[in-house]
Amino acid sequence: MSTTSPVADQHVKSCCDFAATSQIIAIAICAFVIFYAIISSFRCFLGRRMETDNTLGPPEPPAGLNPTLIAALPMYRYTHQGKGDVPAPDCAICLSEVNEGEEVKLLPICMHLFHKDCIELWLEKNRTCPVCRAGVIQSPRQDLEMQ
Ligand SMILES: [Zn+2]
Ligand SMILES: [Zn+2]
Repeated sequence: MSTTSPVADQHVKSCCDFAATSQIIAIAICAFVIFYAIISSFRCFLGRRMETDNTLGPPEPPAGLNPTLIAALPMYRYTHQGKGDVPAPDCAICLSEVNEGEEVKLLPICMHLFHKDCIELWLEKNRTCPVCRAGVIQSPRQDLEMQ
């Protein structure tokens, strides 16, 4: 003989149903939270990986110019003769005037003029003209071929 009446049975059942439903909702919320956490950490991971990839990327060429190329830049002794009233140019690196007879180098692309020592030091750490930022050499390929 059963100890529970059909009514009690039904009551228990609905109770169980309610408990089951709230459990499902709780699980669903948990799952959603976990899912969201996984997605955001995955995105974060992806983003970080992309950043890392960017920084690693293809190996950066050395900051400065190939010494062979620096040495190959046209060098001459500056002379003010035949320039009439045009003032002597200033070296944009040391900010002093280029004097008669000083060794200077002319950048072949932008034709800016600097003291030989100034531009050589500059080009050990840079590949562009300190005045106009133009490339000192025609193309990186040419630079590589000369290495
Ligand atoms: Zn200088
Ligand atoms: Zn320049």
